[in-house]
Amino acid sequence: MTLTDTNDTALAPLDFAVTKNLAAASPAAREEILANPGFGQKFTDHMVDICWSAGGGWHRPRVQPYGPISLDPAASVLHYGQEIFEGLKAYRWADGSIRTFRPDRNAARLRASARRLALPELPTEYFVQSLRELIAVDGDWVPSAPETSLYLRPFMFAKEAFLGVRAAKKVAYYVIASPAGAYFHGGIAPVKIWLETEFSRAGNGGLGAAKTGGNYAASLLPHEKAAAHGCAQELYLDAAEGRYIEELGGMNVVFVRRDGSLLVPDSDSILPSITRDSVLTVARDLGHEAEIRQVAIDEWREGVDSGEIVEAFACGTAAVITPIGQLIGEEYTIGDPDAPAGALTMEIRQVLTDIQYGRREDTHGWMLRLDD
Ligand SMILES: *Cc1c(COP(=O)(O)O)cnc(C)c1O
Repeated sequence: MTLTDTNDTALAPLDFAVTKNLAAASPAAREEILANPGFGQKFTDHMVDICWSAGGGWHRPRVQPYGPISLDPAASVLHYGQEIFEGLKAYRWADGSIRTFRPDRNAARLRASARRLALPELPTEYFVQSLRELIAVDGDWVPSAPETSLYLRPFMFAKEAFLGVRAAKKVAYYVIASPAGAYFHGGIAPVKIWLETEFSRAGNGGLGAAKTGGNYAASLLPHEKAAAHGCAQELYLDAAEGRYIEELGGMNVVFVRRDGSLLVPDSDSILPSITRDSVLTVARDLGHEAEIRQVAIDEWREGVDSGEIVEAFACGTAAVITPIGQLIGEEYTIGDPDAPAGALTMEIRQVLTDIQYGRREDTHGWMLRLDD
């Protein structure tokens, strides 16, 4: 795996100042959390942060006890939402080692998000080092039960105290970590999705392709509507015509056709999922081609009716692959809520998780060891 951004000589590593958490969880307390971690509720003992300023660049790299961040009330992130984030996982392999999946892609996407949000670009070397630094102090928080992981959440925000509207000249980058249990308990059950036709998630030229809190802010109200209709997630259509499939609030969508090929909705306002990119590679390895283009919502409905579309699934780091059983909306229903998960959906999911957990050869060089 290439961890440099350019062909230039690699950047010298940062010199992190480490302050140990004197109130760290006891091994017994930690094991109790790891036995039943849920998702995003419990956090490890430490966090990483690096400061950035327009004059000084990246500086003051630290590992500190996990805890509240002190911010000026005028910090521009609180007013104008200049913020981006990433999400990836650390996996415990059977030999005890700790690995992560394609962190170079998360680093590159964080930089792409930074460009769109007028934030500074964190070099890949620093991004990967920040993960290693956190694992060096909190590695014991990576659980070992099947399908569990330590979810890593790097994020960056504008902390300059300034109410004028412009890109901030002072920025903070952090990494926090949260143990994550198996996403599906008692078998993988297809989910029901709400077709959102009143609200959009992102528009042409907007923030859709950036991993930023604003897109999630736009999704919270539709998400409540989806929940009120008994749905786990909502599907967005393009903002201009309300015709083409975009994605779910936090997951991309993929279809499987009768001939075994994948059909993948394309749009400039879809967040480019690293799981989706990996799914396409795994599918190709298994002999399945993919067509990536605009897909109208009617094509899904007609494809299911005619038997042309035989499986649908959502993909993202948190759940890896989630089969979609049914789509319901104001106007129509697609699919059957009781249908089992599709066979290719499950096969791709198995291959991907086997690579992530070291149960299958990593032929693409996707895994990176963090604890050596
Ligand atoms: C993070 C995210 C995804 C999934 O991306 P992965 O890299 O696969 O985790 C999909 N959609 C949105 C809106 C996201 O924020």
